[in-house]
Amino acid sequence: MPARQLTKEEIKELREVVKKLLKIKGEVRGACSRAFPRCLENLEGKGSVEKLEAVLEKVGFPIDFSKVNASDWYPVGIDSIWLTVSRKLFNWRDKHIIEIGKCIPKCSLLTKLVSKYIIPVQVSYKKIAEQWDRYFTIGRVEITNFKEKEKYGKIRVKDIKLHPNMCLFWIGYFHTLSSFILRAKEIQVKETKCMFKNDPYHEFRVTWK
Ligand SMILES: [Zn+2]
Repeated sequence: MPARQLTKEEIKELREVVKKLLKIKGEVRGACSRAFPRCLENLEGKGSVEKLEAVLEKVGFPIDFSKVNASDWYPVGIDSIWLTVSRKLFNWRDKHIIEIGKCIPKCSLLTKLVSKYIIPVQVSYKKIAEQWDRYFTIGRVEITNFKEKEKYGKIRVKDIKLHPNMCLFWIGYFHTLSSFILRAKEIQVKETKCMFKNDPYHEFRVTWK
């Protein structure tokens, strides 16, 4: 989608969203922010990162993506900020956010690590859950029993409520991680519980064929 010209009203609204997201206590590593520009360019072409950076400055979150360090700590709302501003700027639907979520782990070391060894499905998902603390200072992940026979399992994300766009992002993110672990053709990830719908945690149901 070509970038839109945002109205004054939209800029004002985004400013409020950014302010709110920056108030959330906690930190996240720069890994996703580091990988994001490449995924954005895949979707929106050359020049899209510069366009986004210009708007981010206007809404009170100036950032130079080329200076982001994957292992540094940033405010935990950072990923929600660039997702939400991109969504407005490029007129994205849910599927575009999911697409970004799918793209990002393809660049990360973790997925390569997980997919390198042939280990039981349940063990691989548990490993992902254990890695959470290395990337976030808040929240945690719980894995229900992944049943290889029934081809079904659940990932629960707890104690972290960022933005509904982040939930969409996680759908895509868990989809790619699952594709590394499961080696299945058809994988479906669906958010079946959500803290933004008053559930006690976010729950992602993974099914495959
Ligand atoms: Zn959610």
